Amino acid sequence: MSKRAYNFNAGPAALPLEVLERAQAEFVEFQGTGMSIMEMSHRGAVYESVHNEAQERVLKLLGNPSGYKVLFLQGGASTQFATIPMNLLESGKKAGYVMTGSWASKAAKEAKLIGDVYTAASTEGDKFTRMPSPSEIDVQENSAYVHITSNETIEGTQFAEYPDTGSVPLIADLSSDIFCRPLDIEKFGLIYAGAQKNLGPSGVTLVVAREELLAREAKNIPTVFRYDTHLSNNSLYNTPPSFSIYMVNQTLRWLEEQGGLEGIGAKNEAKAKLLYDAIDGSGGFYRGVAQEGSRSLMNVTFRLGSEDLEKAFAKESEQLGFVGLKGHRSVGGLRASIYNAVPRASIEALVDFMGDFAKRNG
Ligand SMILES: *Cc1c(COP(=O)(O)O)cnc(C)c1O
Repeated sequence: MSKRAYNFNAGPAALPLEVLERAQAEFVEFQGTGMSIMEMSHRGAVYESVHNEAQERVLKLLGNPSGYKVLFLQGGASTQFATIPMNLLESGKKAGYVMTGSWASKAAKEAKLIGDVYTAASTEGDKFTRMPSPSEIDVQENSAYVHITSNETIEGTQFAEYPDTGSVPLIADLSSDIFCRPLDIEKFGLIYAGAQKNLGPSGVTLVVAREELLAREAKNIPTVFRYDTHLSNNSLYNTPPSFSIYMVNQTLRWLEEQGGLEGIGAKNEAKAKLLYDAIDGSGGFYRGVAQEGSRSLMNVTFRLGSEDLEKAFAKESEQLGFVGLKGHRSVGGLRASIYNAVPRASIEALVDFMGDFAKRNG
């Protein structure tokens, strides 16, 4: 088998090798059924048991909280940007958006098309290099919900501590940091994440929410966009992305084997520390973009002294088998996405390369 790349892609991103190999082993024939999981009815018992197992695993990782339900939807996190206000931003109420970077802005833009939106906090004045502290969040009266972006994938910032919004439901986009560390779901009314960064392949979006929020009857919106449609049909109202959900189930099983959220959290802390230490210990050759206290465990963004040096870094690293280190086109610089499935060995190799590159160019 050919060597696996040092994959630092931002999304779709690295999957655990064990997950890929297990999927490969049952790819052509799934559990004695004479067909692959992709070829069978989503209404049959075999697929449904995979579907239900994946939901149960999500809740188990979260400590089986009472009153929360799991949905598997389509259209990515971007579709949630619209369906959240469509379902939950009733007329006469408003929604607070915490503006922390590129993804928060996209979420707020969609909500403004639907209803009344206010800025509950913004770190734009700091060029989105940090997350607001809980005390900076302004929860206005008559709010239907407050929306945050747990991890800004492009800027490389992450909430260290989530705000307390009291009786107003807190909604969070966890697309790029879901299940990277322990998560107190009780703080949230609804969380959502496209699967392709930390949960599996693209094609499915996870929603975990208080049943009360999902069960609301939003009669004026089309059936397929209503949460209560998917809740009452166990996310089988229409054909689900069955192979993606199967892969998510495999990834969740792998997460259990890593010691659940505590176990993976400790590994991620150690992995991120390796990289941030290399940046901080470079005598200024590398500079971290995010402020301390807001540094992401998942997307490590950094800069070099000039754009030419950054270009040279990206090019040389590619030649050596490192993939995906160029920063997002909107912000430039460099970014290493070190999601759950990125092995520590990939980061060790990157740190070696960074040291060598600094020596040759410092
Ligand atoms: C990638 C990403 C999205 C967009 O996800 P899609 O599934 O492509 O719609 C939204 N929010 C965050 C934080 C992301 O990282």
